[in-house]
Amino acid sequence: MSSSDVAVGMGEWALGCSGRFARDESVRHTRGMEAVDRGQLELAQSMLSGAQRVVVLTGAGISTDSGIPDFRGPNGVWTKNPGAEKASNISYYLSDPDVRRAAWQARLDAAAWSASPNRGHLAILDLERSSRLHAVVTQNIDGLHQQAGTDPDLVIEVHGTIWFSRCWECGDRRQMSETLQRVRDGDPDPACELCGGIVKSDTISFGQSLIPEVIDRAMRVSEEADVLIAVGSTLSVYPVANCVPLAKSRGARVVIVNAEPTEMDGIADVVLRGSIGDVLPQLFAQGGNT
Ligand SMILES: [Zn+2]
Repeated sequence: MSSSDVAVGMGEWALGCSGRFARDESVRHTRGMEAVDRGQLELAQSMLSGAQRVVVLTGAGISTDSGIPDFRGPNGVWTKNPGAEKASNISYYLSDPDVRRAAWQARLDAAAWSASPNRGHLAILDLERSSRLHAVVTQNIDGLHQQAGTDPDLVIEVHGTIWFSRCWECGDRRQMSETLQRVRDGDPDPACELCGGIVKSDTISFGQSLIPEVIDRAMRVSEEADVLIAVGSTLSVYPVANCVPLAKSRGARVVIVNAEPTEMDGIADVVLRGSIGDVLPQLFAQGGNT
């Protein structure tokens, strides 16, 4: 069984339970702490204790414990359903009504609607309470940082959000719940109510340009950071991965927390290999008390 199997399996199990975090704890202990290097953890804590502006960069790995599958892992969305990858490509989505109808149907019961933030998301609140969280730059589209309680103004969603829909033609943006209700009410491919244009989720599809202002802001906060912590990302998707070398080049310390090796391990000051739900609470609780 791979680490991805464990993460997704736990997430699904947790979603079915009330009192999720308390019960999650007991499972966690059976998995042990063997992967976390104590010396490296203390080194990262000491970097954090002296930091004023901490930027946290998050990827899919922080959300798998909330039951949101990644894309390409063994339980990934695209591995199990290659059609979903097609729906994620902007040219197919715009040119083929069948792709759009399938995408809206799949979205009706997406895992994200019932997902809750996990210990990793909640740990970031400890950092925020100590007034040192400069920004969260996230590749995730699930909105779980905001749901955990992080100030929405501090969250930079470089790949957009599934919680809103947007018209491809006129840019009209509205709550996804409103658009999904139209699908439930019998419109399989709801067009823009203002201009009749094609509507999609307010996310960045493959083949679609990133929003320059959003990327610029991600780069700017990275330049301003004195510690950048990359969590749950393989740091192989650009340009967001550039936040890491950019921060480093401006003098920031770089900490990487991920279950697997990443593209940027070589330039990190500390690499913490282990479960995100185990590592982040230790990292931020200690730093937040100093
Ligand atoms: Zn429109």
